[in-house]
Amino acid sequence: MTALHAPLPHRLPWGERGLQAFRHLYVHIPFCKHKCGYCDFNAYAGMDRLMPDYVDALERELIFARERYPFQQLETVYLGGGTPSLLPAPLASRLLHFIRANFNVAPDAEVTLEANPASTDETKVAAWLEGGVNRLSLGVQGFDRRALAVLERRTDAAQATHAFGLARDMGVANISVDLIYAVPYQSLTTWLDTLRRAIALGPDHMSTYCLSFEEGTLLYRRRAEGKVPEIETDLQWDQLDAACVELEASGYHRYEVSNWARGGGFESRHNQAYWRCGPVYGAGAGAHSYATDGANAWRWWNIARPRDYIAAAPVPKADGEELDPRKAAAESLMLGLRTAEGMTAPAGFDVELNRLRRQGLIRRVDGRIVPTRRGLDLHNQIALAVL
Ligand code: SF4
Repeated sequence: MTALHAPLPHRLPWGERGLQAFRHLYVHIPFCKHKCGYCDFNAYAGMDRLMPDYVDALERELIFARERYPFQQLETVYLGGGTPSLLPAPLASRLLHFIRANFNVAPDAEVTLEANPASTDETKVAAWLEGGVNRLSLGVQGFDRRALAVLERRTDAAQATHAFGLARDMGVANISVDLIYAVPYQSLTTWLDTLRRAIALGPDHMSTYCLSFEEGTLLYRRRAEGKVPEIETDLQWDQLDAACVELEASGYHRYEVSNWARGGGFESRHNQAYWRCGPVYGAGAGAHSYATDGANAWRWWNIARPRDYIAAAPVPKADGEELDPRKAAAESLMLGLRTAEGMTAPAGFDVELNRLRRQGLIRRVDGRIVPTRRGLDLHNQIALAVL
């Protein structure tokens, strides 16, 4: 039996089920220079030597997926990680060209690459641009030394500023900056300074994430050992308020719980596909795919460890699940209410939606349900109510 026809470990939706075509492609690059203390992503340090084999494996998986699943013209391609900017320029270039040669990437597709300021240089930016990248998501996370040290980020403010300026000067028209708040020892003043320094760079998009202590991370252990204090809840809310005030005053609108865009279409089209429960194919170690036929939905994910992924490609699936129409609709509702635009109210959730409305978390606008400011801030309560 060839690998192509090998049995899969779970039921997957093949063509006869009338799947909606994939128009969004995520490609996971799991390599990092160093594992940051707060990180629970599928990311590994010290495996750089696997990169050429990994790109080979990605190509095998992508060819297999293209043959097996319905793909239409791709509206978005997203290279996330990990640290995609760690790929040497020739490998990044090869991968980007491979995707363009084997998939129908729309001329106006959003092609995003996540970059760490420390691994962003002129040669790489040139290769990304030449390969069609038109959006950079820069993992700045912070500007103050102490917060960066707590997060165990090995970048600094000077590198972030330099990387942003370099990308902009070389012609990247759409740049997003990620920041983290609620970091131990981060005061309201240092957070405000961080926000203002980021805004001063002039990004087109900003993501502001509240630090969470994920089990299994170094930071989680440090907190458990009493070596790192947890930030007070009141301060977290003040920091979120400060972000709302500063970003809105600077012309950004909050279009999702943690995401802000300048006017003029700088919302992340790729992430909007997730929030709208659109089909997204995820390639690479640990990547998740989501497919739907309009009623049922299927989610599956790949083997997480890069070496095992390489060995298993082109069929690196680890496991998956089928969502019945009720569960798929609940997820869609939960995700749709992460966005300021909200969604059309689905049938069968009247009790939950009325309760959320009474709690001031959602409201009805022109036949849609949208989260209030409180609903965006307390989205976890919405999620608990509908899932
Ligand atoms: S650079 Fe990003 S993905 Fe890599 S370890 Fe740090 S937080 Fe995780």
